[in-house]
Amino acid sequence: MPSLFQIGDLRVEPGTRAAGWLPIARMPSGGSMGIPVVVLRGAKEGPVVVVDAATHGDEYEGTLSLLRLLREVDPASLRGTLVGVPVLNGPSFDAEVRGNPRELHHFDLNRTFPGEAGGSITQRLAATYFNEVVRKAQVVVSLHGGGNVFYLDGFVIAHTVSGSSLDVIKAWGWKRFTDTPDVAVNPYQGTLHQKCSEIGIPSITVELGGGSHRSPEHLSRVTREFIRGLRNILIYYGVLEGRPERPDTIWKIKKQNLRVNNGGILELEEGIDIEAPVAKGQRLMTLFDPLGDVIEEITAPYEGRVMALPASPLAYPGRIVSSVYQVIEEIRV
Ligand SMILES: [Zn+2]
Repeated sequence: MPSLFQIGDLRVEPGTRAAGWLPIARMPSGGSMGIPVVVLRGAKEGPVVVVDAATHGDEYEGTLSLLRLLREVDPASLRGTLVGVPVLNGPSFDAEVRGNPRELHHFDLNRTFPGEAGGSITQRLAATYFNEVVRKAQVVVSLHGGGNVFYLDGFVIAHTVSGSSLDVIKAWGWKRFTDTPDVAVNPYQGTLHQKCSEIGIPSITVELGGGSHRSPEHLSRVTREFIRGLRNILIYYGVLEGRPERPDTIWKIKKQNLRVNNGGILELEEGIDIEAPVAKGQRLMTLFDPLGDVIEEITAPYEGRVMALPASPLAYPGRIVSSVYQVIEEIRV
């Protein structure tokens, strides 16, 4: 008798695919809002790998990649279970923005974990996902990117990079990773990888893309990279058979986000692009006001390479417009 695998009302038999919704709330217009869940359960028992996308509603590339992977993989071939949540934050996805614009207090889902069952919609999304899906996992991967605001060139984040988290980072197989500081000093509280770490489930947040849906070439590269990482994780956990595609070494990096103080129109310096080497103090972009006067110059905080660029010349006060990184440690995979 095979054991029962159930998420919400969704019961999944061995070797089959099942899909359905975890209910969250009834909306003012009478429709119901929920979390879409797709489960590929292998014919053989094994680890449960949970993958989500669109925690932030304007980060579409993860959704596209996850849907493609869920279409390509035959559940009968798996030893274990892949649980995919292609659109975790429906209200923000519908609105094409990072958070739910109707929220009064909890705009950002990835600052709201572990959530609250009877709370606002974002708190309920967090609590339902965390308690009914995440807690069943041996590993959790959350797909992110730069959204509508900037283009990010690929890095992995874990809460504490040691032991199993470092193994998962290595398994994912992207070149760059960073860890979030201690909870006590971390300005980003309530992230999924932080809360997973507190309950002992290895979890990574992977950041790639943003603004890239405007370019077919970028979009296909981003999708390929997400799918490569996901397949690598499934292979590492023995859920999928195959050979991982990974680099021989990965880099622990430090990175600094660069923000503008004022709103304005950004112009990039000639030669500034993703991976461009920059010297300390080098100007990356200039911010103009609508009269053509220079308001700010955005410069490199240290010698390094460019890892993010704005998706648009329009800059809002306080917004991140770029980031520069330095390799601090090279680790063999
Ligand atoms: Zn995000």
